[in-house]
Amino acid sequence: MSVSGDRAELATLVTSLRRHLQRQQRVGIRFIAQGEAPPKDSLSDIDENLLSGTESDLFSDSSETYQAKTLEELRAVIGDCQRCKLGSGRTHIVFGVGNPKAKLMFIGEGPGRDEDLQGEPFVGRAGQLLTDIITKGMGLRREDVYIANVVKCRPPENRNPEPDEVASCEPFLKKQIDLVRPEIIIALGKFAVQALLQSKVPITKLRGNWHSYHGIKLMPTFHPAYLLRNPGDKKLVWEDIKKVIKEINGENA
Ligand code: SF4
Repeated sequence: MSVSGDRAELATLVTSLRRHLQRQQRVGIRFIAQGEAPPKDSLSDIDENLLSGTESDLFSDSSETYQAKTLEELRAVIGDCQRCKLGSGRTHIVFGVGNPKAKLMFIGEGPGRDEDLQGEPFVGRAGQLLTDIITKGMGLRREDVYIANVVKCRPPENRNPEPDEVASCEPFLKKQIDLVRPEIIIALGKFAVQALLQSKVPITKLRGNWHSYHGIKLMPTFHPAYLLRNPGDKKLVWEDIKKVIKEINGENA
């Protein structure tokens, strides 16, 4: 086989291994048994490393992602991404928008039709509702916060993102969070919560309570698109948002 053939085969193997390990990790398996179990203290080190990027030592195809020092560099690494099957159907990659040093970060599920066409997250009807939450509810400007999604390309017909798509795009989101380093994350909807907390607990049980994503306070709440279909639950989201406002204002201390 030629050198380029070897490289292509190696790249395929590395990608398969990375996805396999990501799947293992998503179901809570952190180690591959080899001799003695790791010392208990190293568990927290592994968690830290997930965010800070030592996976790059193992996964050469992800190394550029983990080495990106700015959001612009990260966007350049993503390039014209075709790492999952969502790449072929999109109009624009919807990377993220807002203050790169925001204290508050909103994370949704994935782009819809309007977002796909405009290349910006949360610009359709659900986006207008999120903007109202930010501006009218929280008294902030949209440009004060940072907004991103779990997957950066629109799933066809707005279907739910599939596990392999989430796994492929997740490193970009993790790096975005690492670069923005918000104090608080508001996870919008089931997929964002599941991706960030690695939990299968229904969002109805998780919302309204503080959780931790690598030391960052995380508040799960309903997705604005869900609220458009279930306006009666807006009051629940408002309760969640009031808790975040209190935290921002230091009233929970
Ligand atoms: S969803 Fe993410 S991983 Fe998939 S093609 Fe788009 S940018 Fe790449």
